[in-house]
Amino acid sequence: MPQTAKKKSAPGSNVFRWLAFMFLVILSCSIIVSLLTPGDTIEKVPLSSVISRANDENGDIAKITVEGSDLKITLKGKDHYTQISRKDTAGTLYEQGLIDQCAGLNGDELTSCQSKYPTIEYVEVSSFWDYALDIAIIVVPVIIIVLFFSSMMRQAQSMNNQSMGFGKAKAKLYGPDKKRVLFTDVAGNEAAKQDLAEVVDFLKEPKKYEKLGAKIPRGVLLAGEPGTGKTLMARAVAGEASVPFFSISGSEFAEMFVGVGASRVRDLFAKAKKNAPSIIFIDEIDAVAHKRDARGGAGREDEQTLNQILVEMDGFDNDSGVIVIAATNRVDMLDKALLRPGRFDRHVNVTLPERKDRLDILKVHFKNKPTEKSVNLDALAAKTAGSSGADLANIANEAAITAAREGHKEITNDDLTEAFERVAIGPERKSKVMNDHERKVTAYHEAGHAIVGHVLPDSDPVHKVTIIPRGHTGGVTWFLPPEDRSYKNIYELKDILARAMGGRIAEKLIFGENAITTGASSDLKHVAELSKEMIVEEGMGNTTRNLVFPETDAGYYTVATSKPYSEKTAELIDQEVKTLSKEAATRAEAVLKVNKTVLDKLAEALLKHETLEEKELEPLLKDAKLPAAAKLH
Ligand code: ADP
Ligand code: ZN
Repeated sequence: MPQTAKKKSAPGSNVFRWLAFMFLVILSCSIIVSLLTPGDTIEKVPLSSVISRANDENGDIAKITVEGSDLKITLKGKDHYTQISRKDTAGTLYEQGLIDQCAGLNGDELTSCQSKYPTIEYVEVSSFWDYALDIAIIVVPVIIIVLFFSSMMRQAQSMNNQSMGFGKAKAKLYGPDKKRVLFTDVAGNEAAKQDLAEVVDFLKEPKKYEKLGAKIPRGVLLAGEPGTGKTLMARAVAGEASVPFFSISGSEFAEMFVGVGASRVRDLFAKAKKNAPSIIFIDEIDAVAHKRDARGGAGREDEQTLNQILVEMDGFDNDSGVIVIAATNRVDMLDKALLRPGRFDRHVNVTLPERKDRLDILKVHFKNKPTEKSVNLDALAAKTAGSSGADLANIANEAAITAAREGHKEITNDDLTEAFERVAIGPERKSKVMNDHERKVTAYHEAGHAIVGHVLPDSDPVHKVTIIPRGHTGGVTWFLPPEDRSYKNIYELKDILARAMGGRIAEKLIFGENAITTGASSDLKHVAELSKEMIVEEGMGNTTRNLVFPETDAGYYTVATSKPYSEKTAELIDQEVKTLSKEAATRAEAVLKVNKTVLDKLAEALLKHETLEEKELEPLLKDAKLPAAAKLH
């Protein structure tokens, strides 16, 4: 899937931006100050003229002030002063010369002299730089400390998702009218919406229930795969009831310092109660509320967080007006204490959408996007079996982006197809250079998938084959189920294995055992994973039929100690997995050997047209035969 998320900037880069900013501020301050201070513009008055003024019949010097390096002489009756530099060229202080004027006098003469030469006032003036120094002494350490902490916080945040919030819940609050989501924004899942409509009613009219002595539920657990719209539904409950919505994710707690998780929970519940009636939404609650034994004592912090959630919920009064909605995709992992009455005792299942629901979800997401009249959302709904609501929302968005990039005014069917394939596999890479030989290998490889899939009776039909590179693949062969199905039988699975092997086998048959390429690696991985699943989880092995080998719940967290079976059983499992893969390769080879002409024809057509759709494939594939060696039943 295309990665559209922006990269986070490095943790330290903000600090440097700060430092640069501070530097600029200081620089511009000093420029302004130096412009404002009268540098050499001091009026230079010779001392002799000051003395002669003072000695004048009615000496008019009112005040002599020494300020820093300046001498200010204020005249009687005037409020301006003459300022001279305190030091003469020889470095002698002027005021000394003034003081000396009355030296050696006494009696009346002294009094008269002193009246002409007022006592010198020394005024403590600190210059701008003195001030700056004073301020700097206080401010600089503060800045350094702030910078230090903010860089630490940033680092901690990027390391473990805001665990240094020191117990303040970073809950997102959506007020009653901010981005209000309603049930009409949630398509499909009617049953879940009905269950939740009841919760809306509790929030809107608690009295109605209290009067009859009914206990209002405190917790609702939404269970369902990622992207099925659990968060959306919880927000819709808040939206419908017009109450504030506080949300937080269990995974945020998972890596916090000791005690922080619990205090965040406390803070979150306090906020919610203050804003009651309200909803608290805890996403991914399994991250803190997994079975206590499942992690072998490794999760004390999680346990504290979980306990705090339970304590808070137990402490709700009947009229507290706060309803906690939690979401998980692993109900089996949850601690039973969480599911007890009075806690999350209401369960609502949210499922992957069926075809009709997918169409409805697509309609929601195309509602505000201009589409061509011919656009067929139903066809898209048909081929997106297994997609979640989030996947569909993603396709809708990609379709709009594609249309914009192509300069279309409205979204076209081609934009839809491109978006679907882009979301499923990755963007087309037309620029990827393939030499003629590589193109030929790819054509035979894809033709191999297509033919094997086409002739095997329990495989989905071939929908499209292309040798235009997309995502990490050199080419793609699409098989699409004609209808939604919840289960697959063993024959269908074995046909999937065989058709996945078809690519590599075709390469081998045409170019020789020694010329096989790396182009089949993801096919082989798929075969390995699917056959393992068939043996370990589905009981489909030949000698292990109906036996499964579940790994413990703890396997989710501690892979190393998760095998509850012996070495010998492990060998048996490996053996069975190998048998499945070998059988798939044998069947694919049997098919392609008898259909060599079809293989050549199809590969040739691919080299010529690059992409072949169902209609174009039909005449090319119609002569393909199913050999007895590939038959299973
Ligand atoms: P979850 O919480 O189950 O992982 P979200 O609620 O976060 O899933 O779904 C992600 C996005 O997918 C939603 O914001 C919405 O755009 C879209 N989506 C999922 N389910 C639906 C639905 N039933 N109807 C409409 N949009 C949906
Ligand atoms: Zn392949």
